[in-house]
Amino acid sequence: RPASAALAFDADNYPMNHEKIESPKDTPYFIDNKFVQSEATQFIELHDPSTNNLVTRVPQSTDAELKAAVESAQKAFPAWKATSIMARQQIMFKFTQLIRENWDRLAASITLEQGKTFADAKGDVLRGLQVAEAACAIPQSMVGEVLEVAKDMETRAYREPLGVVAAICPFNFPAMIPLWSIPIATATGNCLILKPSERDPGAAMILAELAQKAGLPDGVLNIVHGAAKTVDFIIDEPAIKAISFVGSNRAGEYIFTRGSANGKRVQANLGAKNHAAILPDANKQHALNSIVGAAFGAAGQRCMALSTLVMVGETKEWLSELAESAKALNVNGGFEKGADLGPVISPQSKERIEKLIDSAEEEGATILLDGRGFKPEKYPNGNWVGPTIITNVKPHMKCYTEEIFGPVLVCLNVDTLDEAVDLINANEYGNGVAIFTKSGATATAFQKNIEAGQVGINVPIPVPLPMFSFTGNKKSIAGGGASYFYGKPGIQFYTQLKTVTSLWRSEDAISKAADVAMPTHS
Ligand code: NAD
Repeated sequence: RPASAALAFDADNYPMNHEKIESPKDTPYFIDNKFVQSEATQFIELHDPSTNNLVTRVPQSTDAELKAAVESAQKAFPAWKATSIMARQQIMFKFTQLIRENWDRLAASITLEQGKTFADAKGDVLRGLQVAEAACAIPQSMVGEVLEVAKDMETRAYREPLGVVAAICPFNFPAMIPLWSIPIATATGNCLILKPSERDPGAAMILAELAQKAGLPDGVLNIVHGAAKTVDFIIDEPAIKAISFVGSNRAGEYIFTRGSANGKRVQANLGAKNHAAILPDANKQHALNSIVGAAFGAAGQRCMALSTLVMVGETKEWLSELAESAKALNVNGGFEKGADLGPVISPQSKERIEKLIDSAEEEGATILLDGRGFKPEKYPNGNWVGPTIITNVKPHMKCYTEEIFGPVLVCLNVDTLDEAVDLINANEYGNGVAIFTKSGATATAFQKNIEAGQVGINVPIPVPLPMFSFTGNKKSIAGGGASYFYGKPGIQFYTQLKTVTSLWRSEDAISKAADVAMPTHS
C-alpha cells in the first residue's frame, strides 16, 4: 500500500480544518516498512475531539499480526545490530531532516486526532524532534570504557543493544513520546515495536513512514495497534526484552509489575499533580502568565501541566487577575486562528473532569471560574471544558488528590514557604514543580527541599531538553526512578553492558603452573 495509507486522510493533502471526512479510512499497521490493512474484527473509533466526527478506525491488532511484528523485528535484529554505528547515524540525520520537512503534516494529524492547537502540536513535534537530533550523537554516546586492570590485561566495557524492544504510548503527545523511543531504541541497534495510543496513532504512522524513507531497514520499526490486549501481548511475549511506557498510573503500575515479573526491563513514566508555588516577591506578571499558560495550555492534558497553585501569603490577592487572564483564553477548534486551547480528548474525559469540578463544589471549595458547559459556537459537538479555577481547596478534596488532566487549576493557600514545601512534598506525585520568586535564597531553599523530580525556578514547565533526562519522582515514575527516558539514562536503558577482559602476554612470561586462587590483579 502507498505510504499515504498511514493516515485516515490523504497524507499529502492533510486537511487543516475540522470538516467531516467523507470516507474515513481505517488506520493500517506498519510491518517490514509497509503499511498493511489489519484483518482485525474489532476496531476502536477515533473521533475529532473538536467535532466528534469519525476520523478513522484503529484496529485491535490480531494475535497473528502481533506475532508477525515480533518475528519481523527478530529477523531484522542481527543485521541491524551488525550495521555500523556510522550508518545508523546517517539514518538518524536523514530522519531528523524528514521530520522537519513534514513538521506541519505531523502537527496537523495531531490537531485533528488529539485536539490540541496547531501551534501547540508543532511544539509536540519539535520536542520529539530534539530527541531524534540528540540521537544523531549516537557514535559518541556509545563509546565504551577501557582500563588496563593488571599487567598485560585490560577490561573493555561495550554497550550492546537488547534485541526486540517495545514502546507503549499515551494520547497526549502523539509525536513527542513515540520520539522518546524511536530514535534512541533504533540508533542503539534495537528493533522496536511501537504501540501508539489507540486514540491518536496518526503522528506515529507518519513517523514510521519517515523512518522508512530515512533508511531504517525492514522490521527495525514496526507499529501495532490496540488497547489492553496488545499491551498484554507485549508484556508476555518472551522475545520482547524491554518496555518503555508512558501513561497513567493505572496502566503503568500494572505494566511495570507484570513486565518486570516476566524478566523484562521496564521504564514507566506515570501520572502527575504538578504544583506551582507563588511567592509575594515574584514578578507578578511573569508568574501569572506562566501559570495560566501551563495550567490551561493543551487543555491541561500535559503530564507537566501546572494543575495546582500554592499561593503563599498575600499572593491570594492576585486571584482575580489570574481569573481574568484565564477567562480571556480562546477555547476553540485547534485549527482556528487564535485558538489558545482545544477540547479534551473524549466525551468520557470531559465527563470525568466535570464530575471532579462538581465534587470540589460539593466538598466546599469555590469555583472561581467555571468552564463546565462551555461550547464554542462553531463546534457545539466537541468535548469542551473551559478554563476552570477552583479556590479554597483543601488537601483532602478529590480535586486535589486526583490527577484531573483537564483545563482546571486548583488553588490552595499557605502562609510560608516552609508550609508550601511541606504541602507539596506530602503529595504522592512528584513529576514537576515550579516556584515563582525574585529571591535566589528562597529559590535555592525550595530547590533543595522539594521532592519533585523536575524543578522550575520562574520556569513553568521545566521539561529538560534531551541532553538531560525526563526525571519524574515518587508516584510519577515506576521503579523509584531506576530508569529515565532519554539523555544518558535513555542510552543505558536500551543497551546492556558487555565487559571483555583480555590477557595478551608474551610466551616467555606465561607462568609454568596453574594458579588456583582467586586472581588479585596485583
Ligand atoms: P493511559 O494509561 O490510559 O494509556 C497509555 C497507554 O496504555 C495506551 O497506549 C493505552 O492503550 C494503554 N492502556 C490504557 N489502559 C490500559 C490497561 N488497563 N491495561 C493495559 N494497557 C492500557 O494514559 P493516557 O490517558 O493515554 O495518558 C494520560 C496519562 O499519561 C496521564 O496520567 C499523564 O500524566 C500521563 N503521562 C505521563 C507522562 C510522563 O512523562 N510522566 C507523559 C505523558 C503522559
